[in-house]
Amino acid sequence: MSTSKPTQTIGLLLSGGLDSSILAAHLLDSGVSVQPFYVLTGVTWEGCELAAVEGILSVLRSERLRPLITLSLPLADLYEDHWSTTGQHVPSATSTDEAVYLPGRNLLLALKPALWCKMHGIQDLALAALKTNPFADTSPEFFQQLEGVLNSGMEVPIRLVRPFALKDKAEVMRLGARYPLNLTFSCISPVDGLHCGVCNKCAERQAAFRDGSIEDSTIYYDRGATTLLPPR
Ligand SMILES: [Zn+2]
Repeated sequence: MSTSKPTQTIGLLLSGGLDSSILAAHLLDSGVSVQPFYVLTGVTWEGCELAAVEGILSVLRSERLRPLITLSLPLADLYEDHWSTTGQHVPSATSTDEAVYLPGRNLLLALKPALWCKMHGIQDLALAALKTNPFADTSPEFFQQLEGVLNSGMEVPIRLVRPFALKDKAEVMRLGARYPLNLTFSCISPVDGLHCGVCNKCAERQAAFRDGSIEDSTIYYDRGATTLLPPR
């Protein structure tokens, strides 16, 4: 009989963006098994995100990587004419961070995966919240309270873990430099399946590569807006 400790399985909310994709690779490298989740909410860029998630998982390929679970939580009835579901008036590169806030995002996205984990005996759900995420629903207090709600009256406890909670974007990018970051997807206004190059999230993506001193091989639809690193 083997006396080796069974491999811990950790759930992971995966969006296909830089942070959560780097976290997926980082968790696998740290030796745990990973159960990835993607939540279908009906945002206009969902198809591109899901394709990115599938592409990343196929490249990470590990026996400790479990098949992707997709969970549906349509938000069009709640968000009504919000830009995320209509594609109209999408925040541009010059918009404030507040402009890209999706109401209740972390609460909504964490809910079903957390319950799935509880129902399947997984005790940890990882989220790629960074130290520098600007919104109230990325604060330690928010996750502590959400964890309390999820565990009240339920037999199997769950922990919402944030392995990148003390890291800023540049640190996470440097950690991810050895992974295929070109497969990740960040845009909220894609054109023909490509990053648009002009939305708020494309600007954030370009800045992330720049701040991490990593070459950005993303193909942006609007080539004129692509930020190139200065020659070395
Ligand atoms: Zn974009």
